[in-house]
Amino acid sequence: MSRPRRVAASLLVAVALTSCSGKTAAPPPHAPAGPVPGAASAGDPYMPGAGNGGYDVQNYDLDLRIAPHAEPELAGTATITADATEALSRFNLDLTGLTVSKVTVGGSPAAYTRSAGKLVVTPPKPLPRGRFVVSVAYSGTPREINDPLLGKYGWIPTRDGVFTGDEPDGAHTWFPGNDQPGDKATFGFRVTVPRGLTAIANGELTGTGTTGGSTTYTWRERDPMATYLAMVDVGRFTVRTGRTPGGIPIYVAIDPSVTTIGLGRLYDETARITDAWVRLFGPYPFGSTGGVVDDAPVRFALETQTRPEYVAGIVADPTVIAHELSHQWFGDSVTPARWSDIWLNEGFATYAEWMWREREPGGVPVQRQFDSRYSQKESGDLWNVPPAAPGRGRMFGRAVYERGAMTLHALRKKVGDAKFFAILRAWAAEHRHANATTADFIALSERVSGISLGRLFRVWLYGKGRPANW
Ligand SMILES: [Zn+2]
Repeated sequence: MSRPRRVAASLLVAVALTSCSGKTAAPPPHAPAGPVPGAASAGDPYMPGAGNGGYDVQNYDLDLRIAPHAEPELAGTATITADATEALSRFNLDLTGLTVSKVTVGGSPAAYTRSAGKLVVTPPKPLPRGRFVVSVAYSGTPREINDPLLGKYGWIPTRDGVFTGDEPDGAHTWFPGNDQPGDKATFGFRVTVPRGLTAIANGELTGTGTTGGSTTYTWRERDPMATYLAMVDVGRFTVRTGRTPGGIPIYVAIDPSVTTIGLGRLYDETARITDAWVRLFGPYPFGSTGGVVDDAPVRFALETQTRPEYVAGIVADPTVIAHELSHQWFGDSVTPARWSDIWLNEGFATYAEWMWREREPGGVPVQRQFDSRYSQKESGDLWNVPPAAPGRGRMFGRAVYERGAMTLHALRKKVGDAKFFAILRAWAAEHRHANATTADFIALSERVSGISLGRLFRVWLYGKGRPANW
C-alpha cells in the first residue's frame, strides 16, 4: 500500500499496513480425544481477534450481486473449501455486519450464531480432519471502516459503484472467511451488476454474460491470495487489455471521470514496470498484471493481487505504480504470516520505488535517497521505531517503509549488487505463493551471500536510534 504523505521536500512517502499472523498452535501434550472448537483468533497481537484456527482455506467462490446505492447493496453466497487441521465440533469465520440467511456444511444446513466480527458455525455432525465445504448466504450493505490511523478502507461507495480496499482487515466486511494473511487461498468471483456497469476482480476474466438488466462477470485467481488482497471494483470503466512486451497478460481500467492519468499511459507504465521488475526480481508470480483507477474517496493505492488499485489523486506518480507492482512479488506472492513483519512488504516496495525513481529521466540515485534520510539525525519514528517490531500503532509508519528500504540498501552495500539481487530473486522464488518471516529473510540473505549479517539486521531492523556501524 502507499499513501502520499507530506514530509519535508515533497517526498512521496508510502505508508503501509499489513498483518497477519499465522500462529500455528502446537498440539497440546494431551490432545483431546474428540472434536474441539476451532480457535477463535489467529493470535496475531497486531490484529487481536482477526482470523481463526482449526482449518486452512483452499478456495473461496464468491457469488455476489452488487447494486450500488441500492439497499441492500450486496447479496451473495460464499462457498469456502477448506481443510480441517483437527477434528472440529465448530469453527469460526470472520464476518462483520450483514445478515446471514443460511449456512450449510457439506450441503446440509448448519447452525450458526453471530458474535463480534465472527460467524460461529456448528456443523450438523463434527468434522473429521480433512476437506469440507461451507456455504454462507448473506446480504446487506457493508460498512466502510474509518480508522483514526488508517483512514477509510474496506467497502467504499463511489459515485457510480463500489471500490474495495481491504488492507489490513477490511475483507470480512464484505465476505466471510479466514481474514488473516497466514491463510492464503485461490478465489473465484461471480459478480452480477446492473447492465452498463463493469465488475473487476483479481486474476483473469473468464466470462461475461448479460441477462435482462444485469451483467455477470466471472473472474478467477488461480494462485493463492491473502484475503486483504481480494478486491471487487464496480462502476463505469474504460478497459484496455493485451500483453506486456515481455508477454504477460495485462488488464487495466480507468473510471472515465479520472483525469490525472489516461488509459494509454496507465497501460504503458504498467507494462513497462511489470517487465522491468521481472528482469530484476525474477518470473512474474501470477497469471496477469494490470491496474484499476477509480474515483474512490480514499487516499491510498493498494497492491491488490494481479491488479493494483489506485485513485485519481496519487496515480500520476509512476513511482506509485512501481511500488504497487513490486508488491506482486513482495507481499502478494511472498506474504508475511504476521503483521509485525510488514516491512517485508513495505520496505521492499519502498526500495523498488527508489530504484524506479533512479531510472526515471533526471532520476535521483538510490544512494542519494538513502543519504537524504540517513542525514536526518533527529527524525522521530525513523530512528525510534524498529521496522521489524514497529508495534501495532506504527505498523504503517515511516520506519516500516523508509527504514525498511534503508535496511535493504545497507544490505546491498554490504554484499554487493550481484549477491543482493540474487537474494531478492531467491526470496521471491523460494517463498513463492507462501508465507515467510523476517527470520527467513535473514537466514536466506546469509546463505546466499555467505556473509554473517546478524549485526546489520539487528541494528537496522530491531535497534532504536540511528544505526552507526553495521
Ligand atoms: Zn505498499
